[in-house]
Amino acid sequence: MVEWNYNTEYRHSYAEDSPFFTALGKGKLIGSKCKSCGFKYGTYRKYCMYCGSETDDIELPLQGKIHSFTTCYYSGETFRGDVPYTLVLVEFPGIDSLFMSRLFMRNGEKPEIGMDIVAQFKKFQTFTVNDVYFVPA
Ligand SMILES: [Zn+2]
Repeated sequence: MVEWNYNTEYRHSYAEDSPFFTALGKGKLIGSKCKSCGFKYGTYRKYCMYCGSETDDIELPLQGKIHSFTTCYYSGETFRGDVPYTLVLVEFPGIDSLFMSRLFMRNGEKPEIGMDIVAQFKKFQTFTVNDVYFVPA
C-alpha cells in the first residue's frame, strides 16, 4: 500500500440556489412554484422538472409531517462523527414534493411516519444544508 496526503481547497457557488441558503440564515425555508404548471417544490429549484418553465420562490411552512425516514450507520465526511443519525423526508401541507433533512429526536423518542415535526435553524450559519434540521413539533 502507498499512502500520501491528499488536500484540496474546494470553492463552490450555489448560483441560482443562493436564495435558499441565504433564507436559512433568516429562519426561513424557501421552495419553488412553477410559473406555468403551478407545481410546488419542497426542494428549491429555479426550473420546473416537469415543464421546464421558470419558478417563483415561495416560503414553505416550518412545520410538516414525516413522509419517511432512515437511520444512517455509515456516512460521508460531513456526518462521520454523528452516526447513527436520521434522515427524514418532510411533507409540507400544500406542497407537491418532499424536502430531505436531518431529524433529531429527544430522550429516546422514535420517529414515526406522519409525526408532526418542525424546522430548527443553526445559530451560526454555514451556508450548507446543515443550517436546517427538524425536531418533533
Ligand atoms: Zn411546470
